[in-house]
Amino acid sequence: MKQICVIGVGYVGLVTGACFADLGNHVVALDVNEKRIENLNKGIMPIYEPGLDELVKRNMKAGRLQFTTSYKEALKDVEYAFIAVGTPSGAHGEADLQYVAAAATSIAENMSGPLIIINKSTVPIGTGDWVADVVKGAQPKPIPFSVVSCPEFLREGSAIGDFMSPHRTVIGSLDRDAANQVAHLHLPLRAPIVITDLRTAEMIKYASNAFLATKISFMNEMADLCEQVGADVKEVAAGMGYDARIGRHFLDAGLGWGGSCFPKDVQALAHMAKKKGLEPRILDTVMDVNYERRKTAVSQTQKMVGGSLKGKTVGVLGLAFKPNTDDMRDAPSIDIVKELAEAGAKVRGYDPVAMDVARSILSDIEFFDDPYKLAEGCDALMVVTEWNEFKQLDLEKIKSLLKSPVIYDGRNIYDPALMKEMGFNYRSIGRGFNGK
Ligand code: NAD
Repeated sequence: MKQICVIGVGYVGLVTGACFADLGNHVVALDVNEKRIENLNKGIMPIYEPGLDELVKRNMKAGRLQFTTSYKEALKDVEYAFIAVGTPSGAHGEADLQYVAAAATSIAENMSGPLIIINKSTVPIGTGDWVADVVKGAQPKPIPFSVVSCPEFLREGSAIGDFMSPHRTVIGSLDRDAANQVAHLHLPLRAPIVITDLRTAEMIKYASNAFLATKISFMNEMADLCEQVGADVKEVAAGMGYDARIGRHFLDAGLGWGGSCFPKDVQALAHMAKKKGLEPRILDTVMDVNYERRKTAVSQTQKMVGGSLKGKTVGVLGLAFKPNTDDMRDAPSIDIVKELAEAGAKVRGYDPVAMDVARSILSDIEFFDDPYKLAEGCDALMVVTEWNEFKQLDLEKIKSLLKSPVIYDGRNIYDPALMKEMGFNYRSIGRGFNGK
């Protein structure tokens, strides 16, 4: 049993804390958001993540997982302090490090004994060295510590499984002893462990996310070509994916990537490259191709309803940036709802779990708590997030409820031949001539 503190109780921090507690460690998880900690202490989760509620409650009950807002309490007798605070985009696309700086300063002011500070947040290359300087500068009296980078690769929606069975654990530090101790902590996960220096570990995280985003943008470009030459991008992806050099993951064409990581990380990496005098042409194009998808989806839907969206009612199915999460950060739905409203459409929205979050950030939209009620009287439906519950909707019923049977399937979840047979005016992405 190790004594661990996790700083920042969001998607990464809460999962990290709960999983390490479940592995038998004693974890104190800290957040500056008092409401969040108050709720967690009452058993109310701040985020939706499958399996998390049960995992957190079980480990709280066993006395292995505690929540606090007090750095002093969180750092008492701990050996490892994980930083898992947000690193959102700054005004020019750079990663905003204010939360990391605040966490590092609070650690320095409150640590009571030697400590390994492990950075799980995604941070620009060189941040680990900078965190060491911040801690050194803020310590009231010198206490030995090491900074280790251990970037997180979990995906929202499958975060617990991803954390418990990672493809690899990356550990970066110039302090071999600290790196080995962090490696030891991760041994129960039974994943290959890559031990490297701090900067390389930080770079591995950005390069990985940028590469995955690139795969998706690449497939979206292939989808456009498929529509022109009469090929089906879903089958192209399946055929490509059998090649182990390519892999099947992240080859799904559609409305592109969004969420809390890819957009800000690709942007931050491009920003770093530009600051070093480089021209990140691939990264810039990957972003352009991605954001174009959202605009194209609206203009194609506009064509399907006869050329103008003015006064038309459009139902958006799925608001979260991907299924199985309530995360709406940079979700394609945000731009799509905005574009639809700007074009004069009346927009309706439904999401199985992200409605509360959506209500706090989307305007110009009427929310429905059921896809069938949403469909009633719509001129078109747009599938924006591929939630499982949309895959087997009663499409006959949907068709009877719609004012006109128009479906723009931005996630390729329906069969074009079947939709045609059923009499839908249906468009998906990259599947035969003009995606029809
Ligand atoms: P989040 O916004 O869900 O959570 C961050 C938490 O940190 C919030 O609860 C916030 O109140 C808290 N916080 C901010 N300042 C603090 C401080 N000084 N002290 C204590 N707590 C503080 O963020 P997230 O999605 O969990 O992401 C965290 C980091 O992990 C980011 O760098 C992100 O890029 C990276 N990451 C995220 C994912 C993901 O899927 N969300 C995956 C891999 C890596």
